[in-house]
Amino acid sequence: MIEAEFSCTNRSVVRGYGTCTDGPRTRGCIGVNIIIIGPQACGKGTQAAKMAGHFGIFHFSTGDALRAEVKSGSDLGQELSAVMNAGKLVSDELIFNIVKKVYQTHPEGILLDGYPRTIPQAELVKADLKVDAVVEIVIKDETAVERISSRFMCSECGAGYNTVSLPPKTAGVCDKDGGALIQRDDDKPEAVLKRLALYHDQTVPVVAFYEALGVSVYKVNGEQSIDGVFDSILAAIGD
Ligand code: AMP
Repeated sequence: MIEAEFSCTNRSVVRGYGTCTDGPRTRGCIGVNIIIIGPQACGKGTQAAKMAGHFGIFHFSTGDALRAEVKSGSDLGQELSAVMNAGKLVSDELIFNIVKKVYQTHPEGILLDGYPRTIPQAELVKADLKVDAVVEIVIKDETAVERISSRFMCSECGAGYNTVSLPPKTAGVCDKDGGALIQRDDDKPEAVLKRLALYHDQTVPVVAFYEALGVSVYKVNGEQSIDGVFDSILAAIGD
């Protein structure tokens, strides 16, 4: 057991699934895989980055990977852009090919952000990856719509901002690299409503899928401050 041998402070997440391979550690146990799920604007990306830093595991966002492909200007990127801007989901097959490469190269553990989003994707994950915990961030649809109207991202590095809860130091300018802040096309009103409907139809059943498998699912109230949500996540899964 990792607790006795390595005094790993991550034990409440790992609960014996992970194996630390070196000395006393304060963070990160080999092989801890966590999924974070939530509707758009629930703060999933922000919380995922904080969790990955805290637990010392790799943060992988399918949305960020797809946006990087779009930004590259490749043929595939142009195809993806049309699907994403319309508020639709990218095909399961394409997503799986991207994700599979990532978890083959991160044995220290991975935080999957934005994946799986459908039952077929969850079935594919099941075949390849042991999931230790699922965190579901819950917010009302009205909150999602309201928050999206204040959400912006850097046109250069993709960093996310919110004019209410996470404003940049200078309006319209990225704190990190000075890039212009823009609204994502998939955050425009028609795409937002489509994405919320897809979330309820296709992604909410993924939570029940993990519950049925006996994986710990932690439902966290996303209608709090960023730090409040993060504290609730740590309180739920153990820090
Ligand atoms: P996100 O930043 O997670 O909201 O993702 C932005 C967009 O990327 C989504 O609206 C989808 O079009 C696409 N996308 C991201 N992850 C997935 C996924 N697991 N399956 C299908 N499409 C995805």
